[in-house]
Amino acid sequence: MKHVVSVSGGKDSTATLLIALDRCPPGSVVPIFCDTGNEHQAVHNYLGYLEQALDIQIHRLKADFREQLAAKRRFIARDTRTGRAPDGRKVRWSNKGKRRALAVLHPSGNPFLDLCMLKGRFPSSAAQFCTSELKRDPAVEFQLDLVDAGHRVVSWQGIRRDESINRRFKPKFERIGPGMRVCRPIIDWSAEQVFALAKARGIAPNPLYMQGMGRVGCMPCINCRKADLRQIAVRFPDHIERIAEWERVVSACSKRGSSTFFPASHADQDVREVFTVSGIRNRVEWSKTTRGGRQFDLLQVLDEPNTCSSIYGLCE
Ligand code: SF4
Repeated sequence: MKHVVSVSGGKDSTATLLIALDRCPPGSVVPIFCDTGNEHQAVHNYLGYLEQALDIQIHRLKADFREQLAAKRRFIARDTRTGRAPDGRKVRWSNKGKRRALAVLHPSGNPFLDLCMLKGRFPSSAAQFCTSELKRDPAVEFQLDLVDAGHRVVSWQGIRRDESINRRFKPKFERIGPGMRVCRPIIDWSAEQVFALAKARGIAPNPLYMQGMGRVGCMPCINCRKADLRQIAVRFPDHIERIAEWERVVSACSKRGSSTFFPASHADQDVREVFTVSGIRNRVEWSKTTRGGRQFDLLQVLDEPNTCSSIYGLCE
């Protein structure tokens, strides 16, 4: 039996890992981390800390899109389709679009960026392909390899009912296929219980929680809250600049010629207006405003980047 624990560097998966290590026979716990390429360095440092503190090895899994990108290059270069889309536009790539896309469509080695280049767009809450292709698929593939090697697998998931409506009705135990089960040991826990368990075991929380982050994972996540985006911009402006550069590259790989990290405000927005209105830098400016998005929030300006500000009350 192998107990595969998906570790993200966040509080819930850390608590789940601690429970698995407590309950399962030595050597049967296999922690994995799915690297999206969009995490803060603090997440990687925290994984190293967990490995040292718990004397474990965390397997790093990384999706690889090199073959699909090569296939997309071939497709764009040879595209001679003649039909038109329902809005009247030609379906084939224009010569200008081909030159623009082929100039940048090379594997970067960063799974998040490569996936977005492949799709010609960023994920959204309605099309959350980042989760499925960067996290779920590599984890499932890893577990299926264990099953093929003759192991039975229990997949430990650190999710809680009070996190979202989707998670509210998830069972604690579930059989998902031959030789594969799911265990969600903290499904009924609160965030406070999760932090308390780690504290009782002498495990420090990820420092990002003390720097205003409500959640640890991609930085930023496509679903991040307004307050999180504001904190990221104040404390980690290099991440905003990285996303601005990704917007330029992914736009070049899009037939339309534009794609923004957060969805454009209006579907019919002019391509030239998209970045000014919906680009990451403009979203950051919006995140500094009060509710309604018009007025600049003067109190937030006083929030110094070095201040400890955990929404979970972790600050001493
Ligand atoms: S954390 Fe957010 S951006 Fe990252 S894979 Fe999950 S949904 Fe996508």
